[in-house]
Amino acid sequence: MTAPKTTAIAQTLSAISPFVGPETNERARGKPFAARLGANESVFGPSPKAIAAMQDAAKDVWMYADAECFELRNALADYHGLSADNILIGEGIDGLLNYVVRLFIEPGDCVVTSAGAYPTFNYHVAGFGGKIETVPFKDDREDPDALLDKARECAAKLVYIANPDNPMGSWHNADVIEDMIARLPDGCLLILDEAYIEFAPEGTAPEWDMDNPQVLRMRTFSKAYGMAGARVGYAIGHPDLIRDFGKIRNHFGASRISLEGAVAALADQDYLVQTQDNVARSRARIAEAARANGLEPLPSATNFVTIDCKSDSAFAKRVLSELMERDIFVRMPFNPPQDRCIRISTGPEREMELFEEALPKALTAARAED
Ligand SMILES: *Cc1c(COP(=O)(O)O)cnc(C)c1O
Repeated sequence: MTAPKTTAIAQTLSAISPFVGPETNERARGKPFAARLGANESVFGPSPKAIAAMQDAAKDVWMYADAECFELRNALADYHGLSADNILIGEGIDGLLNYVVRLFIEPGDCVVTSAGAYPTFNYHVAGFGGKIETVPFKDDREDPDALLDKARECAAKLVYIANPDNPMGSWHNADVIEDMIARLPDGCLLILDEAYIEFAPEGTAPEWDMDNPQVLRMRTFSKAYGMAGARVGYAIGHPDLIRDFGKIRNHFGASRISLEGAVAALADQDYLVQTQDNVARSRARIAEAARANGLEPLPSATNFVTIDCKSDSAFAKRVLSELMERDIFVRMPFNPPQDRCIRISTGPEREMELFEEALPKALTAARAED
């Protein structure tokens, strides 16, 4: 029996997820985590109205979802003051990143991102044989000038920036992003990942400009709306750009239950405000715990706080594993010099107490190993 060969590109890749999931960690540890603060999920949960809508939709799950996602696209269009033609629904931003790379990248095409930025994007680029060029962060922020210089240098078809950024929680004001857009080289598409935009200060998101075919913005129900497991994200852009995705997207990829949940979540803006308040309070609390233990919390426009452990990567890794040892699931940036930090997702009272209790003990243990 001879199996067919995988593609030449697949043969160069390893079958590794860009993120090790907490469930994988739990199986390896042989016990569950007490606090799940590593994946920037919203531990505050979704709106009760979204939960009710999803429960109600469960009985209809024998039907495929509407392939045009008409209701959610129109609800999002109303919400943002755009047209439904500007909106594409996908299986989270992760799914949309796959589509955009599939649509634009042939083997050898140049793609630009920051070293240590969101790794799922790089994963998809590799899957289509794209050539990734990276530029360093500058002062713990993604660097629009360096991204543009590199894009020009390699005639990039795609350039990626997350604003606010993961894993640092940093952000640029809208004028910086607008200036970046104005200076994009011809033939280059900016992917503006706004997964955390609902947590950012006013003036972070650029004005909508649906006439520009060089910008694709991405948002999600996974973070502020607390629906990471539902897998609903959306891209916003020029109608021609959005229409092109119809050539390659998984038309029945959205779950009927998830779409109903997203429509209800969007309609419950009071709950979003409540989550934003909860996140702001929890951010302050994580920052205070960090300072109380001699560490430095970085400013954050997201639902997590990145903490500078004021030493090297080896030390940050020890702090991380000592926290995991104490049943607190957290993550850290992959790349130097950001990997001197650990990254803590916000959460409610119980999770914050567990973190505050574990942090000094984890630090003492990590310092003792020095
Ligand atoms: C969490 C995250 C995503 C993933 O969003 P999904 O919609 O759940 O796929 C995308 N981009 C960044 C920067 C993120 O941190």
